[in-house]
Amino acid sequence: MSTTLEPKSERQSFAEAAMRLGGKGEEEARRTGAVDAADDQVESLFAPQYQTVNSPIHRAVWERQVPIDLFVPPPWPESAPCDEAIRQCVEIVRRRRLDGSCYDQPGKLSRAFFDELAKVGYWGMLVDRKYGGQGAPFRRFARMLTDIATVEPTTAGTASVHGCIGAVDPVRTFGSPDQKQRFLPRLASGQALSGFALTEPCAGSDLTALRTTAVLRGDHYEVTGEKLFITNAIPGRIIGLVVMIDGKPSVLIAELPSAENDQWQMVPYDLYALSHTRNNGLKFNGFPVPKENLLTPPVGDGLTIAYHGLNLGRTALCATAAGSMRALLANMLPWADFRRTYGAKINVRELVRRRIARLAALITGADAMTDWCSWLIDQGYRGEMECVVAKIFGSESLKEAAIELFMKTHGGRSFLKGHLFGDNVYDFLAPCIYEGEGEMLGMAFFKSLAKQHGTSYFEPVGRALHRHQMKTFSPANPVHSWRLRREMWSYSKWWLGERLSGSKRRHVPGMKPVLAPHVDFALNQFTRHPRELSSTMIKHQLKLPDRQCRIAELSQRVQDTVVMLVTALWANQQNDELTIAAADLLCDDLRRKLTGQRPADSYFRNVGRVAEMILDGGYRAIVGVPHLEIMMKYENK
Ligand SMILES: Cc1cc2nc3c(=O)[nH]c(=O)nc-3n(C[C@H](O)[C@H](O)[C@H](O)COP(=O)(O)OP(=O)(O)OC[C@H]3O[C@@H](n4cnc5c(N)ncnc54)[C@H](O)[C@@H]3O)c2cc1C
Repeated sequence: MSTTLEPKSERQSFAEAAMRLGGKGEEEARRTGAVDAADDQVESLFAPQYQTVNSPIHRAVWERQVPIDLFVPPPWPESAPCDEAIRQCVEIVRRRRLDGSCYDQPGKLSRAFFDELAKVGYWGMLVDRKYGGQGAPFRRFARMLTDIATVEPTTAGTASVHGCIGAVDPVRTFGSPDQKQRFLPRLASGQALSGFALTEPCAGSDLTALRTTAVLRGDHYEVTGEKLFITNAIPGRIIGLVVMIDGKPSVLIAELPSAENDQWQMVPYDLYALSHTRNNGLKFNGFPVPKENLLTPPVGDGLTIAYHGLNLGRTALCATAAGSMRALLANMLPWADFRRTYGAKINVRELVRRRIARLAALITGADAMTDWCSWLIDQGYRGEMECVVAKIFGSESLKEAAIELFMKTHGGRSFLKGHLFGDNVYDFLAPCIYEGEGEMLGMAFFKSLAKQHGTSYFEPVGRALHRHQMKTFSPANPVHSWRLRREMWSYSKWWLGERLSGSKRRHVPGMKPVLAPHVDFALNQFTRHPRELSSTMIKHQLKLPDRQCRIAELSQRVQDTVVMLVTALWANQQNDELTIAAADLLCDDLRRKLTGQRPADSYFRNVGRVAEMILDGGYRAIVGVPHLEIMMKYENK
């Protein structure tokens, strides 16, 4: 190891260097480095002010002054050219949901439904107008997904697959003028819908294990390998296909033929999740793709392209979760009003009211995170850390809403066929896994957050340890301190600066009294996070990559602070008493999670008050959201 360490130092990433210095195997260090390198390359696609170190979260943690302006999306522009198309799309989905014509015979979203949406521009929302699209800002697109998901979530999910992770984003962002001209008009018109094929039987969380390979033969690539779990992948679709070309991940825009053949077959299986759409494995055996369909990003490789789309997809996922949770609440209220136990409706019970209020709190958080992240994307930010927080919050909230709040309130009927829960439970859970499993993403979030600090202060220490053949550094040991005096001096300056500035409090003007304390609390948390993160790095030193549970815990703490700040600031701009009260509840819940305190009686009174307002019909977020008939109704006496 010692001979390879120094020459590689110029090229290898912080994580890779740390792993080598920590004595990890060559293979693991190399794979980690490959992911890190792809990540660095995505960074270089963005102007410096929009890169991760200048992103709102990174600055809030490390700059000793939270850039409040970057946490508050401004009010929406009054109108945009895409508005009419969005209105028509939402109307079509509502109408078809009401007349029961969304699905075809096997219960999948029907071709006729997709064609009707195509006519009004649904599939081209994110495509530039010059290619026949609507050129919608991502913020408006995300809000449309929420509206559509309240009625038919898989339709929203399909737009996200097509527009964010499918072929639309790769081609519009990385395509050559010729590729844009060839693909975007068809993708925008809905003539060809798309998906993205990244996952393989051996490669899901670990994208360095990709095996599907493309080899250039004359004017085309021949693809051989297998993909798994690919949404929207059926004959005739266009697929962003991640393959290895000359050992490098690359993306080919592949047109699946109208029928399977010797070079391409679908691998069918029964998947419970996303039951209204198609999801297949894809098997390629010398499958030809024209060589001019290879996307060539200005820097980086195929993973650069994948990561770019995933940021959009993760925000879209949060937007869709916000819609699905509205549907859960809209279906919970009639049932809680109907069901009587011990002589009273269950909606008068405190436990049930807590669930109703908590659901509104989660919706408010998901709305705030969606609006914030999509505004950042529209501004040009990479938004990698922000979109991860939105994805984790959205998917975990939906899981909690479905299981802890909705299922428990509906009792045994939850498990009936035809019940919103019973029929869709897998759809409520799967977002925790697709587009990156939450805890794995949480660790990636930590890595992004700690990278610059680690590279500046800990990598030099690690190298010095290696030079002096020391395994660990103990500040109490004078020999250690002397040997690492230069490296420690620079770190000590940072630490001292933190201690001196750490307690500086900041108040945000114009906050509503109920939300102001949450903003103050979150800002105070941000002054603590650098020391929490840094002392963990000191404590575990080169063993930190193995301390996954601690990393996950710290990552979650920062994420909770972010959600709290964003939700409080976003709700402060809403002119709606209930949204403000729901945001207050969510922030209270997050604060107790961060401090470990027990809830006060005043908190339970607030919960009751929010539930009361919702039961009185005052929650604008669920106005007009359809609900199913109560199942197994009986005569209430
Ligand atoms: C409904 C659905 C739709 C999907 N659609 C698509 C699609 O359109 N296109 C596409 O490409 N993919 C798609 N996927 C695949 C999805 O993205 C993957 O399932 C996901 O990335 C996880 O990969 P995996 O299933 O291989 O999990 P694995 O890689 O097998 O990991 C399983 C679990 O092991 C743990 N784990 C793994 N590695 C580590 C580690 N180093 N440290 C600690 N824990 C670890 C994590 O908890 C992880 O979740 C879809 C999946 C589903 C369920």
